[in-house]
Amino acid sequence: MQVLKFGGSSLASRQEMEAVAKILVERSTNAQLIVVLSAPRGVTSLIENLIHQAQTATDYTAQLNTWQTRCVALLQSFDDRLSSAQLNHLHAFQHAQAEQLQRHLQGIALLGECSNKVQARLMAMGELLSVHILLALLASDNVRELPAEQCLLASGDYLNARVDIKATAKRIKQWCSENPFNIALMPGYRAQHEEGDLCVLGRNGSDYSAAVVAAAMQAQSCEIWTDVDGVYTADPRRVSSAVHVARLSYEEAMELSHFGAKILHPKTIAPLAQFRVPCVIKNTTNPAATGTWIDAEGDHSMPIKGISTLEQLALITVSGPGLKGVAGISARVFSCLAQRDISVNLITQSSSEFSISFCVQQANVMAVKKAIRAEFELELSSGLIKPLNIQKNMAIVSLIGDGMLHQLGLAARFFASLAQAQVNVSAMAQDSSERTVSAVVNQSDCGDAVAVCHENFFTHMPSIDVFVVGCGTVGAQLLQQIKRQQPFLQKRNVKLRVYGIANSRQLLLAAQGIDLNNWQEKLTGAKAAFDFATVQQFVKRHHLINPVIVDCTTSTDLAARYADYIRAGFHVVTPNKKANTMTMDYYHEIRNAARAKHRRFLYETTVGAGLPIIDAVQGLQNAGDRLHEFGGILSGSLSYIFGLLEAGQSFSTATRQARELGYTEPDPRDDLSGMDVARKLLIMAREIGLQLELDDIAIEPLIPAEFDASGSVDDFMARIEALDNHYAKAQQQAHANHAVLRYVALIRDGKCQVKVEAVAADNPLAAIKDGENALVIKSDYYQPLPFVLRGYGAGATVTAAGIFSDLMRTLAWQQQA
Ligand code: ADP
Ligand code: ASP
Ligand code: MG
Repeated sequence: MQVLKFGGSSLASRQEMEAVAKILVERSTNAQLIVVLSAPRGVTSLIENLIHQAQTATDYTAQLNTWQTRCVALLQSFDDRLSSAQLNHLHAFQHAQAEQLQRHLQGIALLGECSNKVQARLMAMGELLSVHILLALLASDNVRELPAEQCLLASGDYLNARVDIKATAKRIKQWCSENPFNIALMPGYRAQHEEGDLCVLGRNGSDYSAAVVAAAMQAQSCEIWTDVDGVYTADPRRVSSAVHVARLSYEEAMELSHFGAKILHPKTIAPLAQFRVPCVIKNTTNPAATGTWIDAEGDHSMPIKGISTLEQLALITVSGPGLKGVAGISARVFSCLAQRDISVNLITQSSSEFSISFCVQQANVMAVKKAIRAEFELELSSGLIKPLNIQKNMAIVSLIGDGMLHQLGLAARFFASLAQAQVNVSAMAQDSSERTVSAVVNQSDCGDAVAVCHENFFTHMPSIDVFVVGCGTVGAQLLQQIKRQQPFLQKRNVKLRVYGIANSRQLLLAAQGIDLNNWQEKLTGAKAAFDFATVQQFVKRHHLINPVIVDCTTSTDLAARYADYIRAGFHVVTPNKKANTMTMDYYHEIRNAARAKHRRFLYETTVGAGLPIIDAVQGLQNAGDRLHEFGGILSGSLSYIFGLLEAGQSFSTATRQARELGYTEPDPRDDLSGMDVARKLLIMAREIGLQLELDDIAIEPLIPAEFDASGSVDDFMARIEALDNHYAKAQQQAHANHAVLRYVALIRDGKCQVKVEAVAADNPLAAIKDGENALVIKSDYYQPLPFVLRGYGAGATVTAAGIFSDLMRTLAWQQQA
């Protein structure tokens, strides 16, 4: 004997129903089958809504028409498949059901109420329709209807009854002995209440019907046929990267369904586990797929099996001095709820026994309030118990697997993952078998929580979700590199996608990531301007869990918002020097926000472009080294100009040439003012712990104070020859002293200065020219020979590569989780 159950999704239309019939014909050639059928998809919900409308005096005619049209259309779809006698029979059956439903609805509307007993009778109609259609499709004497309301004996709530398996076994065996069959079609969800009337087994309860029949008959297996290939590590409708799970233990399946995995009704597994009947989940539209096998053994090679969520909950906390040390309070709390059939999804108690928190379905909040008020009237009035604390719109996220028991640190990783997703945890619980760890979170955070946990526990493919602001030379080069590096990223198992690109006028966003082959075109067509609130909403809507703002502008306004971006859960990566050279207060504010939010602020390219200068300085300090002196050539354009001076060029020719080659800023005065180098030096100074402001840097510009540097760029360039003499003299003097002129940034004795200096030939900075940058550090460990780092310190390619490397660093936190 085998039991097969087909859910509403497998009976949604003619196509699925024919697929079911085909499976049954094939399977019945070598086994006797009891087949449990749900209502066609959506039919039960329509009836439930109808009852609600009738009860609340809402006009239900439109809804009634929808139900009638849905059922009749389904029957009509078989016009060319069934005989007219069969069709007439089906239509007559539907007509009778419609009349019965209508009559009851009138009564409900009149009374303004509907008992659970009456509701059960109506809600269970859809299952009969499925059975009648399948009887017609299979049309054979060997196919019979097994009447659930005679064979399944149940008790409890009429809408959520529990089946007595022993009594049911007796009845079904009796029925089987009197009705020989090859295939017995049984409507799911329906049963006979011990008081004699029809009752139902809870929404989605046909799974449970199948389980009790399989248990009662000691079937070879209980197959649950649905619309997916089996159980996945998360709901495949919500997590596109969900992974198929081949085998589960009964306990794991029970926990998964209890904590919200809709694929199985929570009551399904217990009877199967009790009678050791294996359960198989199969796909009606893909019968060849192996499905998921559930038995006592499970699969030890996969310690964690899935993440599930239960939504629309309220977290209720009972607290007060009366709870302390008084035995039996929690027993009273939960028994008063049980008496009113209010089921509790999760319980936690503070170790001081000062409070008890539990989750219930949001719809039950009023009932809980009433129950607790009635039970604790005295304690409430005397202040021994405080008024209930009720948090609505909550959800439980659970991580489930037998391996939780044996592997240290899984729960820690779970909570670290939630922190990574910036999800606040209101309560947590681990079941006593240590198979499940659960967190109660705001429902609006549920998607983020699942996405990040799934990434960390299953796909192991961390993501970097990039928003590039500013797409001039560096920004465009970065996008180019991201496109080119996709194969490398794939090898490293990293998903790096650009979801947003903005310039000063437009913002382009794409839910699937922007196609980097034609982003320029798309950006030109984009309408809105960059607006952080829009980006933030986009991130929330698409559950992006590792968002990074890459600021490739030189904007001060944008830099002033970094702390806000970080507080909103973004990493910030930038070559823009502005933020690090604003006030010391803001400098600390950004870092405090990053620490509090577990986000990174990365700016390696602000000094020396792609050269890992910041990294090197941080590395030395992390090793306990103390820096004594720092000297550097930190400007690619000035390195180029002074190289030409050394080679005998005049200052004006060197500057012109550097400008023509694009080594300087469009207005060379920006380089010659020394301000750019001063900002870089301030960043370095702050990096080694000096609390300085930009004003504290002594700047000697390349243009002497007496020189008139006003006017347009062209005016200025036309006058620049006047400086040739000054530099020729300085150069000659340096040469005579076996030195060369360099624009040097210096930190010595806590003081910072940037200036033109004659550098002795044996100083490592003397060799730095042609656009190279260098950093020379003397420290406890590096003396008398200094630590030297040199290389190209300007240019879009190396800068973009440095930004790329910072982007990869945003994963460090994820990889710890
Ligand atoms: P049926 O109509 O066959 O009873 P259900 O809709 O009740 O089907 O259950 C199947 C659905 O369960 C799937 O379509 C899927 O979206 C959902 N589901 C939720 N969690 C999981 C999970 N962990 N694995 C597979 N499916 C899941
Ligand atoms: N038809 C019922 C429902 O939709 C039972 C089931 O489908 O399992 O809840
Ligand atoms: Mg179901």
